[in-house]
Amino acid sequence: MKLAIKTQRLISPLKEIKDAVILIDGERIEAVGKHENISIPSDYEIMDVGDKIVTPGLVDIHNHGANGYFAREGADALQEVCTWLGKTGTTCWMATIGDPEGVRGGVEAIKRGTEGCYVPGIRCEGPFLYPKYLPGESPAPPPPADEKTFMEMYEAGEGHIKIMDCSPDLPGGLETIKRIRDHGIISAFAHGNAGYELFMEAVECGVTISTHTYNVMTGMHHRRPGAVGGALTCDEVMAEITADGVHVHPVAMDVLIRCKGLDRVYLISDTQAIAGLPDGFYDWSDRIIDGEYNWVGVKLKKENGVARLAGMGDDVDGAISSSCWPLKKGIQNMINDVGVSLKDAFRMGSLNPAVAANLDHELGSLVRGKRADLLVIDEDVNLFMTMVGGKIVHETELVAELEY
Ligand SMILES: [Zn+2]
Repeated sequence: MKLAIKTQRLISPLKEIKDAVILIDGERIEAVGKHENISIPSDYEIMDVGDKIVTPGLVDIHNHGANGYFAREGADALQEVCTWLGKTGTTCWMATIGDPEGVRGGVEAIKRGTEGCYVPGIRCEGPFLYPKYLPGESPAPPPPADEKTFMEMYEAGEGHIKIMDCSPDLPGGLETIKRIRDHGIISAFAHGNAGYELFMEAVECGVTISTHTYNVMTGMHHRRPGAVGGALTCDEVMAEITADGVHVHPVAMDVLIRCKGLDRVYLISDTQAIAGLPDGFYDWSDRIIDGEYNWVGVKLKKENGVARLAGMGDDVDGAISSSCWPLKKGIQNMINDVGVSLKDAFRMGSLNPAVAANLDHELGSLVRGKRADLLVIDEDVNLFMTMVGGKIVHETELVAELEY
């Protein structure tokens, strides 16, 4: 399909273009610019979205699942997640899986190809995570991050594992971080009790991502800067943030942006299967779910869009469990709660995660040659259309009325 989309406002997201045209030829963007500079060839269909805004699609590189399915539950489950994500404005996600069997399912989905949302690879947040040791959990020493386990994951991935998390305070943690980098995989610092010094040692071993910054890491004290102090000040590291409005206070998000700059922070959803489901009680204790969550038979209560552990004993119940909102909500929170502009919020939700995952050569911004992954939204980030690889995967009536 050859399509020209006309809009009064396009966010690339490095710049805004007024009265813009974007030409889409098949899966790719052919041209982007001011209408007066681009002539639309006669074989292109024209879609005029008027005062609706065209932006890049959202890129979610930390997401365990949604809409009742975990990414690790096989290729069909993964497709269900893709279908839901496309309807929320996420056009690319990194299927986040923490065990070899789950990884094999992810590889199958990638080989098969997905509809509704593009899956460029797999992220492994697990198995190399320092235990959370919640009350009631076994106080057994942490499992080592060993070469055998790494190789099992690596071989299961058949080259599709793009990011792997590791806690440096695990036995063998720093060696594993080096091993991750040596195998061409992006290395992320995640979970545990590492302080500032160990954080910086992990960076020397190859870490370039701070996983869900602030959450499950040592905080910043003025004499003990902690892993948070490292994430805030080390320019070699890009910092991801769960911007659901629950996991991190808006002021802490603001501090992160002020420290890192607009180019070194990116938004993640960190959702799991509960995102997209209605409020209620969910007993998933008989399901083999994602590595990060397998420390208990998971039972959750979702209320007002927040999921907490429930039905597992007074000493555990009430802990926030996982995020329930797609990345679009993070964009809205950045704008409404932190005061970031629409353009900069989109930078943190599209281009920056693409850079962190080394995908920016093919997606993350609206420029010639990249994938035609884009959204049509309004000023409040209400979604009217999602396009993935040049294909419209979601649209509301409003845009349908505006067409042609
Ligand atoms: Zn985590």
